[in-house]
Amino acid sequence: MVTYPQIVFNVPLNRRFSYSCEQEVFLGSRVKAPFGKRRLIGCVVAVDSHPPEGVDTLKSVESLVDKEPLFGEDTLELAQWMANLCMCSLGEALFSMLPGGKRESKKLQEEGDQEASSQPRILTDQQQVALDGILSRQDGWNYLYGLTGSGKTEVFLRAAEATIEEGRGVIYLVPEIALSHQLVDGLKTRFPGKVAVIHSGLTPSRRLAEWNRIRNGEAPFVLGARSAVFAPLPHLGLLILDEEHEGSYKSGSTPRYHARQVAMRRSRVSQARLLMGSATPSVESWFLMNRGSMTRHTLTGRPAGGAPPTVQVVNLAGEQNVFSKTLVQAMSRVLGEGRQVLLFLNRRGFSYQYACQACGEEVHCRHCSVPLTYHKARRAMVCHYCGYRTAPPHSCPECGSVEMRAAGFGTERIEEDVARLFPEKKVLRLDADAVKRKGALEEGLRDFREGRIDILLGTQMVAKGLNAPGVKLAAVLSADTSLNLPDFRSSERTFALILQVAGRAGRFIPDGEVIVQSFRPSSPAVRLAAEGQVEEFYAQEIEERQMLGFPPFSRLFRITIRGKLEARVRSLAQSFASDLAPYQQDFEVLGPAECPIGRISEQYRWHIILRTEAFDRTHAALNAVLQSLKVPHGLYVEVDVDPVSLL
Ligand code: ADP
Ligand code: ZN
Ligand code: ZN
Repeated sequence: MVTYPQIVFNVPLNRRFSYSCEQEVFLGSRVKAPFGKRRLIGCVVAVDSHPPEGVDTLKSVESLVDKEPLFGEDTLELAQWMANLCMCSLGEALFSMLPGGKRESKKLQEEGDQEASSQPRILTDQQQVALDGILSRQDGWNYLYGLTGSGKTEVFLRAAEATIEEGRGVIYLVPEIALSHQLVDGLKTRFPGKVAVIHSGLTPSRRLAEWNRIRNGEAPFVLGARSAVFAPLPHLGLLILDEEHEGSYKSGSTPRYHARQVAMRRSRVSQARLLMGSATPSVESWFLMNRGSMTRHTLTGRPAGGAPPTVQVVNLAGEQNVFSKTLVQAMSRVLGEGRQVLLFLNRRGFSYQYACQACGEEVHCRHCSVPLTYHKARRAMVCHYCGYRTAPPHSCPECGSVEMRAAGFGTERIEEDVARLFPEKKVLRLDADAVKRKGALEEGLRDFREGRIDILLGTQMVAKGLNAPGVKLAAVLSADTSLNLPDFRSSERTFALILQVAGRAGRFIPDGEVIVQSFRPSSPAVRLAAEGQVEEFYAQEIEERQMLGFPPFSRLFRITIRGKLEARVRSLAQSFASDLAPYQQDFEVLGPAECPIGRISEQYRWHIILRTEAFDRTHAALNAVLQSLKVPHGLYVEVDVDPVSLL
């Protein structure tokens, strides 16, 4: 029997292609078929019994890849919804749902927070109230808001248990699966045989096997990073988003979906519960809670003992260097008591700039418009965007002066300074440079947790998930690294970061101390984070967003245009903006302007930002302009709906 499948491919062409096929072929399965001069794997999204009209010769499917469907109708429907929203092709949407296809998470192993999640506990009153509230309905949007260590994980697991007892499935999303291996172990003990873990380290065949275990109901508990939100559970009952505010829930490549948005949609369609949690909710979620579209459940206190630390802000303006007197004194005292110190700096390398003392010229990357970072150990200047490296220049390329000097500071430089200040103490640096070797991160964190290290110094990767009982002092060396970025979310991110670092001190013993250093100690993000005035921060931030018309009071679309010749990039950006002009009663056009990072890997970058309160009309207008746009060879246009980064 000949059938006529309609097939979509993982290419940016929003079309279905008809083929003929001699065998029976299933909706939602993959096939190999000729496409142009190539042979590609595509997915069957419809099966017709007659060939399309007006076509004489149809190419035929070469072979079937799957013996049974990979995607059910609900997943196909979800992909179509996502393709519409993100303005990508159905094929791109479908293929992004299969886990591990894209760079999603590195396979690092790190300590998680969940050392005891394998044993159910007697809930505290607050945990019980939250759980009862969540379970009081079969669906609905819930938010578990509580400090690090307030016992959110235990509530997640109880809600999961109850949902599985109802015969429904659970998706548990974490920002980075590699940071969660203790959670994985805990889950496997508590839900034996029922857990599927989806991560990018799986081989394609293992991945497929897990996907099928989920589809046929064998594994009703799915744990994974961003793309696990698409897991094909037959009866979805609960979607959990741990650390909801994390940027990694937004995809950085086409389709640029946000797992939170997908989770909201899926929970509605499947009438499942949605449960998000964080100590520092995104401003958008906070706003939804205030409006009552999402139920807030609050946990205060720390059931394992411990108490919120005291927080002190140090103004860097009056200091000689980043080791302020206050910080050095506190470090000496804490180390003298035999306790541990955690130093956080979101900048690796030795120095941030390498600049001429005579004329101020900075050394920039040849391919990107960012300054190079000096890495002393490698004796090289390195670009953190494209990886370009070069030897530090002996003289200034601009004025010839030999007075070139490293300015600013990165983790590598801090490591030297710490070793000089506390020569008898053991220091460990953990950043992307230091953990290249497999297992280095895991080992380092274990050494620290077990007390073989006195001072741990690191970037982002130590701010999260670190669970070391001996830490008495945690310090943010410079809160300004994220505060000064030209992005309307920089304040929100700085605030969250300070609270995350603060959450590392005094987790088990109630005498934690936190020091936050900044050149802008009175900025709301720094001051309110230090004072622990979470609600006040959100109130102010929401008021400011409203005044400036930023999300959640508007929605944004970002169109980025890139290419090797700046003049062509600029001119396409300008003509794009003028194509949009007829629709402008529906939205405001910001730009076109050069992106804050104007060039990455030789590609010049311009963007246009649309801001609107009429999302649907703006979406339609942009779609129409994109459809009629002829993108010249060598230029690229990328659309980001609800962007989280504007750099
Ligand atoms: P969060 O997810 O909010 O950061 P966790 O769930 O990791 O917090 O809990 C922090 C610590 O408190 C863990 O060591 C956990 O085992 C412990 N804990 C959680 N709930 C209870 C409870 N009801 N009784 C005793 N200890 C608890
Ligand atoms: Zn110079
Ligand atoms: Zn570069």
